[in-house]
Amino acid sequence: MNDIYLDHAATTPVNQEVREAMKPFHSKIFANPASSHLPGQKSAAALEDAREAVAELLGTKKAEEIVFTAGGTEADNLALKGAAMALSDQGKHIITSAIEHHAVLKSCEYLEKHLDFEITYLGVDQDGLLDPQKLRNNIRKDTILISIMFANNEIGSIQPIKELAAIAAENDILFHTDAVQAVGQLKIDVNDLGVDLLSLSAHKFNGPKGIGALFVRKGVELTPQMSGGSQERKRRAGTANLAAAVGMGKAAEIAAVNLTKKRKELNLLRDYFVSQLRSNFDNFKINGPAPESENRLPANINIAFKDLDGESILFNLSLNNIAAAAGSACASGSLSVSHVLKAIGLEDKYAKGSIRFSLGKGNNKEEIDYVIKKLKEIIVRLNSLK
Ligand code: PLP
Repeated sequence: MNDIYLDHAATTPVNQEVREAMKPFHSKIFANPASSHLPGQKSAAALEDAREAVAELLGTKKAEEIVFTAGGTEADNLALKGAAMALSDQGKHIITSAIEHHAVLKSCEYLEKHLDFEITYLGVDQDGLLDPQKLRNNIRKDTILISIMFANNEIGSIQPIKELAAIAAENDILFHTDAVQAVGQLKIDVNDLGVDLLSLSAHKFNGPKGIGALFVRKGVELTPQMSGGSQERKRRAGTANLAAAVGMGKAAEIAAVNLTKKRKELNLLRDYFVSQLRSNFDNFKINGPAPESENRLPANINIAFKDLDGESILFNLSLNNIAAAAGSACASGSLSVSHVLKAIGLEDKYAKGSIRFSLGKGNNKEEIDYVIKKLKEIIVRLNSLK
């Protein structure tokens, strides 16, 4: 059996068409898009085409609402710190959730520590879902920003973003969502959702690494987080990563066309995986919303084996050429239980034995059969060693 990659929530392979689209921008078309000469204009046109493709994937006709960044982390930092700094004279309270990615949580910590912001971290229920009423109850006169992730990277829970954004709008508060895990898997329409800021990252939907974007609704002011030139309409200084932006544009085009088909395929494979897990194991739990539910990313399967060590399971899977993750890629390697599994109240005896499989392009039933077979051997062996 070839290597089996079930860690698409960490990153995805770059699509062949994306690679082809990027090629000329490493050689023939290399000029700085900010240069006014002809080659520069060609680069600028390609950058704007890419921006349009990303805008289209997000359901906006206004390409100028897309700011290219160096990935999801930078988009989150720009959203949180940029909005907080721009609005600090109106209030210094921000609401987020306890299960955000560290790019959001650490940006909040920074604002607390260095700029005297107060942050409310809303808890979630046992499925990792946020009750909109809880958001309503925590809004204060000085709340200037609400940031709630679209879909969780560890347990796949999908928040009711439209409802949450409407609560923010009723109260005249900016709303940001980290949609890094959702874009490419779920249909996103920023206008239907009513969000003001939305982060995405190309490498999560078969685009290149090191490029992402922040959707910034027209009229929303952000304090730039990079000091330098006037690129990206003064919102993100620095020469654009042209080849990567072109790649992101191509990946966005492909994602838009394939969305429904991809979701169907992922649902089918996920159902098969879950049915095989259920018929082959009894000492495990599924972390997060029911796999078949609308509130869960189709590609995400996060399971916990009681009284076993997730890192040992992963290591043994890896010896069999199977790549998965413990909770989240960022938490793997550390022995502490992830903040997300803590937030859903998972007992330690399950949390420590949690592993995440995330499906993607190219995975198939034969691979799942092999994974189940190997996982069974591993679980039996680890249990016998206790
Ligand atoms: N937000 C979420 C929900 C993520 O899953 C990730 C990456 O795993 C990020 C932000 C960071 O994105 P990037 O790797 O592009 O910096």
